Amino acid sequence: MGDERASVWILGDQLLARHPALAAAEQEHAQQNLRVVLVESLRRTRRLPYQRKKLVLLFSAMRHYAEELRTQGYAVDYVQAPTFLDGLRQHVAAWKPSRLFAMDASEWQGRTFQRARLGDELGLPATIVPNTQFLVGRFDPYPGAEASKRVLMEHFYRRMRRHFDVLMAPDGKPVGGKWNYDAENRRPLPPDAEPPPVPTFEPDTITREVMAEVEAAAHGVGTANGFGLAVTRQQALSAFDDFLANRLAQFGPYEDAMSSQHPVLYHSLLSPYLNIGLLEPLELIAAVEGAYHSERAPINSTEGFVRQVLGWREYIYWQYWRLMPDLMEANAWDAQRPLPSFFWDAHTEMSCLHHAIGRAIDSGYNHHIERLMLLCNFCLLAGVQPRAVNDWFLSFYVDAYEWVMAPNVIGMGLNADGGSVATKPYIASANYINRMGDYCPRCRYDHKQRTGQDACPFNFLYWNFLLEHEGTLRANPRLGRNVYGLRYLDEDERSAVRRQASSFLDKLQS
Ligand code: FAD
Ligand code: SF4
Repeated sequence: MGDERASVWILGDQLLARHPALAAAEQEHAQQNLRVVLVESLRRTRRLPYQRKKLVLLFSAMRHYAEELRTQGYAVDYVQAPTFLDGLRQHVAAWKPSRLFAMDASEWQGRTFQRARLGDELGLPATIVPNTQFLVGRFDPYPGAEASKRVLMEHFYRRMRRHFDVLMAPDGKPVGGKWNYDAENRRPLPPDAEPPPVPTFEPDTITREVMAEVEAAAHGVGTANGFGLAVTRQQALSAFDDFLANRLAQFGPYEDAMSSQHPVLYHSLLSPYLNIGLLEPLELIAAVEGAYHSERAPINSTEGFVRQVLGWREYIYWQYWRLMPDLMEANAWDAQRPLPSFFWDAHTEMSCLHHAIGRAIDSGYNHHIERLMLLCNFCLLAGVQPRAVNDWFLSFYVDAYEWVMAPNVIGMGLNADGGSVATKPYIASANYINRMGDYCPRCRYDHKQRTGQDACPFNFLYWNFLLEHEGTLRANPRLGRNVYGLRYLDEDERSAVRRQASSFLDKLQS
């Protein structure tokens, strides 16, 4: 082991209990010759007006992580600088390492920079080890698949299940006899249901300090006040234990339900922790599978959760790396409308959107169906520019990072990628929203009306979208069913839909 100095750069969304770049450095350098560096980049946090609770989460978790490393005996440089590169240069000038270790960034721009320029910019060799935060880093279910090859999530997921031996019976069949329990997992929430509250964590001195800084910076959306997320691995594990004990059993049936009263329902609210490395996917999957085998959760909830983490999360990350960088500019439906201004203040008479956007502003959280079937559904039907929608989502959510946002928003939500992530657009009229949620009875609009003064905008926008894109929709066998209903609209009704949609869209302020 040489006595040359080395540095390990740990990014803010890589707060892993055992960081692979640190492990790699320790194989070649004694601990006293190592220094870990974490950088808070001012430019990165100002790229968009980010959700203040997300900034608190990131910086508080980074600072707690640095403290934890120090108690383990590591020397840590915690730098605040205008840019990452400035922070690293500052660190290199002071410590004078002969080498830098880092782990691949999860985002395209960061990783491209690390691989192509980082070492040269710092004037020292940089060793970049593979990212271990995703299971597709260990097993690629479709190696070498070109971006043009369609890979369905269901097929991808089954390969992942088999490879990682999750919920598999000894005969190679899925445990419970079925791969997919979606049909049992689409119940609306009964009016008297009381989902248990999600645990919150009292901010300590470090967190309070970050909250004050974030509020003082006068840049961002929402407020740092009321912050109660986990900021250490221990707290994140306790949030997960609470989910296992109190919500997992009901996770499946109410996965798609929406409620004006209960923002989280039986969801896990673990994405903020998974996405910064405080929790790791396989440990969650193993514990949830254990809950099934010890009869603490039924198969539809267990499989439903495994599908999200081993299926959707990995699929989304895999698609991101396959489709970048073109994904960011994709606009298959040629949507050109700017984002309506009510996305910034929730001032809309549409009750469902008012609730969902209000939550995003206050807490930085909406569950999956609110993101997909309310917010993206509206933007797709209204023809809002994909990049603008993507930036809004990136700004407002506590769990938002480009690798997860772009395929979910541009791909799944807006179907702007030409159908790589989802083979058909997720569009729905008010009928679906009324069936799965409780917003409609208190709304100024009538969810049953297609046109007329009180008609719900989701209805005329839905039919207008079908009319506008009838040719494209008919040409694709998977999309054909969407246009089936147009047969029942006579010419007068079609004109009324078009007129009302156009008048509504013209009045939207951006
Ligand atoms: P649960 O419903 O409890 O699911 C468990 C876990 O599964 C989640 O924590 C998450 O890690 C994973 N997961 C489930 N679906 C997905 C998915 N489609 N993509 C990635 N991971 C998934 N997730 C983010 O982490 N960050 C985002 O910025 C984000 N933006 C989204 C935008 C849109 C338009 C859509 C449709 C989905 C988005 N998702 C995003 C995916 C999903 O909505 C969130 O992961 C989920 O709502 C987080 O809440 P939860 O932890 O309670 O999830
Ligand atoms: Fe949303 Fe329409 Fe229902 Fe109002 S009537 S809550 S706008 S779906």
